[in-house]
Amino acid sequence: MAGIGALSINNFEFSDQSGLIQSGFYSEPSKKIPARKFDVVVAGAGTAGVFAAIASARTGAKTILIEAKGYPGGTAVEGGTAIHSFYNLWKAFPGVEKKQVVKGIPEEFINRLTTRGGSTGYPEMSLGYDYDSVSTNIDTELYKLTIFEMLIEAGVYVCVNTLLTGAILKGSRLEGVILECHSGREAIYAESFVDCTAYGDLAARAGAKYTEPNDYAVANSMGLGNVDLEKVYDYLDSKDAVGQLSRGVRSGMDGRIIRIEAKNNNLPEGFVAGAKAIGMSFVTTTVHDNYCMFIKLNVKLPVSPTNRDEVAKAELELRKRMQKGVELFRQYIPGFEKAFIARTSPSLCIRRGRLIDCDYDITHEDVIEGRHFSDDVFAYGFHDSAPRLKIKNGGTYGIPYRALCVAGIDNLFVAGMMITKDSRAHMSTRNTVSCMCQGQATGTAAALCALNKVGTRNLKYSQLRENLEKGNVHFEN
Ligand SMILES: Cc1cc2nc3c(=O)[nH]c(=O)nc-3n(C[C@H](O)[C@H](O)[C@H](O)COP(=O)(O)OP(=O)(O)OC[C@H]3O[C@@H](n4cnc5c(N)ncnc54)[C@H](O)[C@@H]3O)c2cc1C
Repeated sequence: MAGIGALSINNFEFSDQSGLIQSGFYSEPSKKIPARKFDVVVAGAGTAGVFAAIASARTGAKTILIEAKGYPGGTAVEGGTAIHSFYNLWKAFPGVEKKQVVKGIPEEFINRLTTRGGSTGYPEMSLGYDYDSVSTNIDTELYKLTIFEMLIEAGVYVCVNTLLTGAILKGSRLEGVILECHSGREAIYAESFVDCTAYGDLAARAGAKYTEPNDYAVANSMGLGNVDLEKVYDYLDSKDAVGQLSRGVRSGMDGRIIRIEAKNNNLPEGFVAGAKAIGMSFVTTTVHDNYCMFIKLNVKLPVSPTNRDEVAKAELELRKRMQKGVELFRQYIPGFEKAFIARTSPSLCIRRGRLIDCDYDITHEDVIEGRHFSDDVFAYGFHDSAPRLKIKNGGTYGIPYRALCVAGIDNLFVAGMMITKDSRAHMSTRNTVSCMCQGQATGTAAALCALNKVGTRNLKYSQLRENLEKGNVHFEN
C-alpha cells in the first residue's frame, strides 16, 4: 500500500566544480602497513552485518566487524517504517494460522529491545493488514546501543569509523582486506569473509561480478518531534483517510497509536501535490509520545548510488525536501502545527546499490510460490509489494544457502540488500528481518568455514543446519 507521495524525479541544480583532470593519474607508492589476523571478517555493521558478526563470534570464530559510521545498525535505524516482519501475512489470508516464522538472534534482539522500551514488540495491525500483519517499531537510538552491547558481549572486535577500502586476493581466494581510519591504514587477514556493506564494496574489490540496476529511488528519512498523533488520527479519520493503523505500547502505555498511514484521498490538494513533488510518503511508526520516527523523502538518481557526485547532489536535494516536507505538515495537517525535524539519517539510504552474482539467484516464482530448498538457511514470509504480491496461502519461502555464496570466490558470503536480481523478489528479500536472518546464516557459515578450513562450497549443509537450529533459527522444511 503506497503512502502519499509516489516517487518523483525532479531535476535539481548543483554547481560543477569537480576539478577532474581528464588524463591525469597519480601512482600510489607501495608501503608497509600494520596487519591483524582473524578467523572471520564481517564488512558493514548494518542490518545484516551485526547479526553476521554476533553469529560468527558465538559459533567460536575470532571475528572483526568493520563499519564506516560511528555506530552499528545501518538502514534499519535510518530508513524505514517498521521492521518487516517476524510473522507470516496471516491477516491477509482469512483462516490462515498466525505463525511466527522468524526467530533466532533477531528475535532475541527485538525482545531485549522491547524490554527496555526500544521496540513495540509484535502488536497486530488493525487497518492495512493486507500489507503487514504486525508492527514491530523501534527507537533508533536504543537499537544502536542495544546491538552495540550485544556485539561486545559476543566478543566481536568492533571497528567503527573505519572504512573498508581494499581486498587482498590470491587467485579466487580472498586473503584479507584493507581498512582506513583516522589512525591510518591496516591489513586484516582472515579465513572467511562476509560482505554486508549494502553497496557490495568488499565483493566488488574482490573482483566479484555484479550489476548496478539503479531501479529504486534513494531516500533520507526524518524523525519529526512535537507531533500530536491523536489529533493527526482524528483529522485523518474525519477525512476517511486512514490507511494503515496499529495500536500498541507508546511511552510505556498500551493501546496507543504506534503506526499510521494516510491514504491519498480527501486531503488538502496543496498537501497532496506538495508531497508528491518531493517524493514524501505519509506513513510513520513510533514508540514515543509526540514523535514520528520515520517520514521518508525520495529522489531518483540518474545513475547508480555508487556515483559519489550524483549522490552529493541528492544529499543536498533531500535536505531541501525534508525542510519543505515539515513545512507542508505544519501548514496542512492538524497535529503537526509545531513539528520540527528531530532526526535525519547521516547519509542518504539506498534500497539497492550493487547486486552481487551468487551461486543461486532467488526468483519471483520462488518467493510467491513459497518454495523451499534442500539448503534453506531460514524461512521468510513478508512481501513489501503486498497486497499485490503475496506469498502463496500466507505461507513462507526459504532462502537457500547458495544464494548467499558469492560466485567465483572461494570464501566470500554476501548478506542483505545485495542479493536477488528480480526486483519483485527483491521486494521481499531486502526487508529488514530477512537481512537480519541472512546475517545470522552467513555469520554462522563463515565461522564454520573458518574453523573447518573449508571454502563456502565445501561446508557440509548438515553441519550448518545443526548450528542454525542451535541458534534457534526457525525452518519450515
Ligand atoms: C528509505 C528506506 C525505507 C525502508 N523501509 C523499510 C521498512 O519499513 N521495513 C523494512 O523491513 N525494510 C525497509 N527498508 C529496507 C531495509 O531497511 C533494507 O533493505 C535493509 O535494512 C538493508 O540492510 P543491509 O544490511 O543490506 O544494509 P545496511 O543496513 O545499509 O548496512 C550496510 C552497512 O555497511 C556500512 N558500509 C557500507 N560500505 C562500507 C565500507 N566500505 N566500509 C565499512 N562499512 C561500510 C554502512 O555504513 C552500513 O552500516 C527500507 C529501506 C530504505 C532505504
